[in-house]
Amino acid sequence: MANLITVGSVAFDSIETPFGKAERILGGAGTFISLAASYFTKPVNLISVIGNDFRERDLTMMQEAGINTYGIQQKTDEKSFFWAGKYFNDMNHRETLETQLNVLGSFDPIIPDSYKNCDYLMLGNLSPAVQQTVIDRLPTRPKLVVMDTMNFWISSFLPDLKTTISNVDVLIINDEEARQLTGQYSLLVAARVINSMGPNIVVIKKGEHGALLFYYGQIYFVPALPLEVVFDPTGAGDTFAGGFIGHLVKKDSFSFDTLKEAMVYGSAMASFCVEKFGVEGILGLTTSDIENRVKQFHSLVS
Ligand code: AMP
Repeated sequence: MANLITVGSVAFDSIETPFGKAERILGGAGTFISLAASYFTKPVNLISVIGNDFRERDLTMMQEAGINTYGIQQKTDEKSFFWAGKYFNDMNHRETLETQLNVLGSFDPIIPDSYKNCDYLMLGNLSPAVQQTVIDRLPTRPKLVVMDTMNFWISSFLPDLKTTISNVDVLIINDEEARQLTGQYSLLVAARVINSMGPNIVVIKKGEHGALLFYYGQIYFVPALPLEVVFDPTGAGDTFAGGFIGHLVKKDSFSFDTLKEAMVYGSAMASFCVEKFGVEGILGLTTSDIENRVKQFHSLVS
């Protein structure tokens, strides 16, 4: 089985949606990505940083899910990354109420020796300079480097972000962020501009309108599953990325056909995520839960 390293924030989130509120629940891009990927490959070798306020039970839950937490540094003199967001009736748009970088502000990622044999690297959302440092500190370049980012880093850390983007194979980004990054409204043109920045493969997520895969001039589309209730979209993008990379690692392939399948698995995992608050929707799933969801995607478009 090929090896996977994931990188990303491990956080506390406070979330408000039209369906309710949750204070300081477990979140973070690294958490959602790694939990989703753990259904496809184990262990998921996570690199991140937490503070003195992090709960032991959350770490235990991650370990029990098959996440190797050896690469999570704990800083005893600082607090964990904290993010607060609010959704309105149109859940495709959200307002970030607060971002406290805390431990993430000075994070110097250390790659444990046991992680160094890395075939696939999934760089989830955190500082682009840290994402680049992880690439630089691996003794050999992985077969495939996939990267996610968000508006926060595009707005304030563009030069660092462009450097990291130039060194990855796949960029996963949402439609609004693709437009912000490239200054292009057409997603076709935006994907082409991103290609010119480095990545040959681009995935543009469009929330409830599905996701597009741009692969060397070819395009593939996967819808999002229409759901009666979207309870909390937080982490859906990261969960998509986790299912996507998880499937590639499981198949140890990134051919166009495998990438298309990965788009469906990513979308299936994201559909579980939005049904409950925080990470709850992606805990305790079975293989048949996931395969049944994938079948629903196929019947939706066949
Ligand atoms: P998503 O809904 O997929 O965009 O991801 C939401 C998750 O990203 C939340 O659990 C947050 O903790 C985390 N997050 C929010 N802002 C940032 C940021 N600037 N850097 C890293 N992680 C973030």
